[in-house]
Amino acid sequence: MVKILTLFIVITLIFGCKNEEKSSSVTDNTPENSQNAEENFGIVIHGGAGTILKENLSDSLEAAYKAKLKEAITVGHEILKNGGTSLDAVTQTINIMEDSPLFNAGKGAVFTHDGSNELDASIMDGASLKAGAVAGIKHIKNPINLARDIMQKSEHVMLYGAGAEEFAQTLGYKMMDTSYFYTKNRYESLQKVLEKEKTKDEKKISFEDPFIKTSKFGTVGCAALDKHGNLAAGTSTGGMTNKRWNRIGDAPIIGAGTYANNATCAVSGTGWGEYFIRSVVAYDISALMEYKGMSLQEAASEVIQKKVPALGGDGGIVAIDKDGNVAMEFNTTGMYRATMNSQGELIIKIYKEE
Ligand code: ASP
Repeated sequence: MVKILTLFIVITLIFGCKNEEKSSSVTDNTPENSQNAEENFGIVIHGGAGTILKENLSDSLEAAYKAKLKEAITVGHEILKNGGTSLDAVTQTINIMEDSPLFNAGKGAVFTHDGSNELDASIMDGASLKAGAVAGIKHIKNPINLARDIMQKSEHVMLYGAGAEEFAQTLGYKMMDTSYFYTKNRYESLQKVLEKEKTKDEKKISFEDPFIKTSKFGTVGCAALDKHGNLAAGTSTGGMTNKRWNRIGDAPIIGAGTYANNATCAVSGTGWGEYFIRSVVAYDISALMEYKGMSLQEAASEVIQKKVPALGGDGGIVAIDKDGNVAMEFNTTGMYRATMNSQGELIIKIYKEE
């Protein structure tokens, strides 16, 4: 009897301990895990890549770019910190840059060959894989908002030109006078390119021309991960100086300039659009992660340092993955860029060698 009782006590003690171990490990981990998930958010932005050299940028202009990047990323970071969605963070961060004459998007859009401004933008939601895009619009202050409305309030992914603006009007968008998009600098850039064109046989004009190369970048973009684990990316641009024939670049092409998928990453690109379309840059980075198991950084450098230059193109991307890792990869001399993590650590850079 005593033996049976001893055995019973021993068994009870062993199982009791095991259960305690189990439950204590569960109770230990749960708060830690949920805290990690809760804290794991981040945001990354770009304001265009290209031939950006320190000797060509005055101290005051450099400071102005950095201040605007900081203002924009802080808006998105606040939204994420307060539990807002990555879609809201992306939209509102891009709005700040669209409203600034410093960047080639919204207010600061470059001029077309005919002296007008044609705006492109796109946005993608990594949770649902829904996307919205708009191209060739002329009267919308914040094209990224219209791209988002196309995603959320229409049955379509992409609208262009007058039809896109008609849709915007049904939603009560204000049609801006085209003069809103006039900036002296951008207009002068167009004049210089046109002047240069005159001195050459027009057919021989090439985007390889060093002057034309420097005048074509400045797009804005943002990728974000929110506390709910949802990724989003968006891109907005005026395209390339002196573009004609209703040329459309990569920015409004889902998979080329913008892509987001909760299973992998969110990407926004900037650079020579024709090459970004042909390389399907943003989706390719996601696909290398999904199918080849590459890290975000490996995938980004594969595409930006190898695939795009192999075709003859240049530019860069910003991206964030589902774990909050960030990539800011470019093959030009500079890219206006910034990132901020859940601890509030902020990095703002312009040149390659920073
Ligand atoms: N990717 C844009 C375009 O080709 C230009 C840029 O990024 O600045 O339209």
